[in-house]
Amino acid sequence: MKSDSAKHVVIIGAGFAGLWAVKTLFGKKGIRVTLIDRNNYHTFFPLLYQVGAAEVEPEQIAYPIRTLLRGRRNASYLRGDVSRIDYANRKLSCNDRRIGFDYCIIATGSGTDYFSVAGAERFAFPLKTLDDAMILRNHILTCFERAASMDDPDARRKLLTFVIVGGGPTGVEFAGALSELIRGPLKKDFISLPMNDVSVVLVESADRVLPMFSPKLSAYTTRRLRKMGVDVRLSAPVKEISARGVTFMDGSICASDTVIWTAGVSGTAPGSDDRVPLSRGNRIRTLPTLQIPDYRQVYVAGDLVYLEEGGAPLPMIAPVAIQQGRWAALNVLRQERGGEPRPFAYRDRGAMVTIGRNAAVARIGAREFRGFIAWIIWIVIHIMNLIGFRNKLFVIVNWIWDYLFFERSVRLILPGCCVSPEGNACLHRPVSST
Ligand SMILES: Cc1cc2nc3c(=O)[nH]c(=O)nc-3n(C[C@H](O)[C@H](O)[C@H](O)COP(=O)(O)OP(=O)(O)OC[C@H]3O[C@@H](n4cnc5c(N)ncnc54)[C@H](O)[C@@H]3O)c2cc1C
Repeated sequence: MKSDSAKHVVIIGAGFAGLWAVKTLFGKKGIRVTLIDRNNYHTFFPLLYQVGAAEVEPEQIAYPIRTLLRGRRNASYLRGDVSRIDYANRKLSCNDRRIGFDYCIIATGSGTDYFSVAGAERFAFPLKTLDDAMILRNHILTCFERAASMDDPDARRKLLTFVIVGGGPTGVEFAGALSELIRGPLKKDFISLPMNDVSVVLVESADRVLPMFSPKLSAYTTRRLRKMGVDVRLSAPVKEISARGVTFMDGSICASDTVIWTAGVSGTAPGSDDRVPLSRGNRIRTLPTLQIPDYRQVYVAGDLVYLEEGGAPLPMIAPVAIQQGRWAALNVLRQERGGEPRPFAYRDRGAMVTIGRNAAVARIGAREFRGFIAWIIWIVIHIMNLIGFRNKLFVIVNWIWDYLFFERSVRLILPGCCVSPEGNACLHRPVSST
């Protein structure tokens, strides 16, 4: 349905929040939706680390937005980058066009935050987009190829040392997956390489990994990772990242050509001349209804929202984004129909993180699980939530293959990124502007 009298709702971002917002508005009378995203696909971030660790292909965790909107007559997609929002006049700038709206839901998510650590943006690899994951996968595989023909043992060890900064879910999951890639398929592929030269180091500034779980589950995670050969370094704040590797606050250095930054994220709102209240980490402070205080026709959902519940900010995770996206859309409908928007309340159903084969940690309600049972829960929940039947099928096949044969089918070094002749890939990686 597209009529001039229909109210125009613009949703910026087709991530978890934006997608659930648009789904909620499908077929709603008197509403016309434009969904804008710079990518023509939705990314399932919880499995992004598996692309970086050569476990699944990028297209298996992405889904075309136009396919999602197929047959929905009141919704359309516009590929573009929203550069500015004029909140006061309800207009936004996208692809050199000015687009007017009656309501807007901003769901542009978050980007990597390097916390002003010297050299981090230039020398560390982020893991926040499909491009990042592909660059990382190419780089890791290239390091092995280069090391195979290298005589200098120090240079070889540096090339084969992979440092992951950040002991949150992404850091833990990536460390586990990388260790399994190395000790499984790569060990078989590179029989002439001394495996003692290879190390995966997980660095965390706090005294435990996964602070969102109980200390018991954090300790279990550390034990499991160490058993898998990961060198877990706790209470180890990073001072600088350079071509040499990582320098810690105590002055020690870990020589490495590959530092992966998973330590922090911050909000990425489009620019504006109007003032909107921001929190630390560049997230927009909204009313409990998810509206921006001075611009009640504009809602914010997902990672970009700073909203406290019980005295603490809501976490930047997919379930919060999904619930907020849906809630923002419902509030638009309430407001449009003359009602009052209602405050958002997060329904916390739990959290889970996988460590590796047969090992994960999970909290469901008040109960905690670990080991094989948590791993099965993790698999089922992730397959259920992955968008697209084909994606589910291919990911399951990859996982079964990997589980049964300790093999990964995805080990191609594709064009687009490489290690420089000097050995450091990051020097050849364009420095991100966000
Ligand atoms: C590696 C990784 C692993 C994760 N693992 C988990 C996990 O296991 N479980 C969990 O619950 N959460 C996980 N998360 C967090 C979860 O992915 C986020 O909380 C969630 O994606 C936030 O949803 P969102 O809709 O706010 O933003 P996003 O999903 O980031 O979507 C934002 C969208 O906006 C688009 N966009 C941004 N700026 C613009 C612009 N200016 N113009 C046009 N389009 C724009 C982007 O292209 C993107 O599609 C993970 C995140 C990462 C990075």
